[in-house]
Amino acid sequence: DNREIAVPSKTKEILVRHGFTLKKSLGQNFLTDPNILHKIVAAAEITKNNNVIEVGPGIGALTEHLAQKANQVLAFEIDQRLIPVLADTLQAFENVTIVNQDVLQTDLVKTTEKVFTKDLPVKVVANLPYYITTPIMMHFLESDLAVHQMIVMLQKEVAERINAKPGTKDYGSLTIAVQYYMATEISFIVPKTVFVPQPKVDSALLKLTRRKQPKVQVTNEKAFFKLTKAAFQLRRKTLWNNLQHAYGKETVTKTRLKKSLAEAEIDPSRRGETLSLEEFARLSNRMEENRI
Ligand code: SAM
Repeated sequence: DNREIAVPSKTKEILVRHGFTLKKSLGQNFLTDPNILHKIVAAAEITKNNNVIEVGPGIGALTEHLAQKANQVLAFEIDQRLIPVLADTLQAFENVTIVNQDVLQTDLVKTTEKVFTKDLPVKVVANLPYYITTPIMMHFLESDLAVHQMIVMLQKEVAERINAKPGTKDYGSLTIAVQYYMATEISFIVPKTVFVPQPKVDSALLKLTRRKQPKVQVTNEKAFFKLTKAAFQLRRKTLWNNLQHAYGKETVTKTRLKKSLAEAEIDPSRRGETLSLEEFARLSNRMEENRI
């Protein structure tokens, strides 16, 4: 039987054979469209000089393709019931390691050091569980494991927020958190009809590529991200309103905020969503200097 796992009749057979029922609460929307899978794998441009991390292999529909292209594949699957299923569907592949763990509770550096035998550029390729898309993205970005690329399927709306430009409604602290480290690109849009069961929304394949250095130079990353979160706290309020809300209304604070804004040449009556990453960096660096 050399049909792909994602062929609908084969997926069905696997589910029936193992008596497996999909769990909505774990974001189990499986891909049963070989064409889409081929497009994902092509976009990921994996070679034998890559190690791949997958989040949520399900029954292995994407994993089998990754295993054919990559040096090694490490896949995190939270659902214990899928472990025997994967042992069956992926038995032909010696370069796949399945770890039965919540990816969010995983020390990525330690686990990859244990599993990957060669130090190769790492790509994350996944059809993400949608109930925790943003936490998973942030878990990888904030990890000390410098993932080279992430090629992930997620809700179209979240992909658009991550890929947004300043001054648009989609632009926000998530945009900045991702674009700080990674160059972003939406490869293609995927209709919800290719999943079983169908999710409520359409999806997109998002491709992130790590920058040689962060997009902007900041003196204190934590302070920079605090500022960008603060600026979007109340979206319809001005930057000035949001800054006072986040940093306090004491006279000394207000004076220092005003001084920082003036030095960064940013009009306090602007809204956070109009500021570029460069402007946020400039303001954050001035605020650091002025001890806010
Ligand atoms: N890769 C398969 C495919 O494309 O058909 C399944 C993708 S499905 C959208 C998401 C998968 O992530 C499910 O198998 C689910 O059990 C798993 N999952 C959900 N939460 C997880 C977590 N916190 N850590 C690891 N895997 C998780």
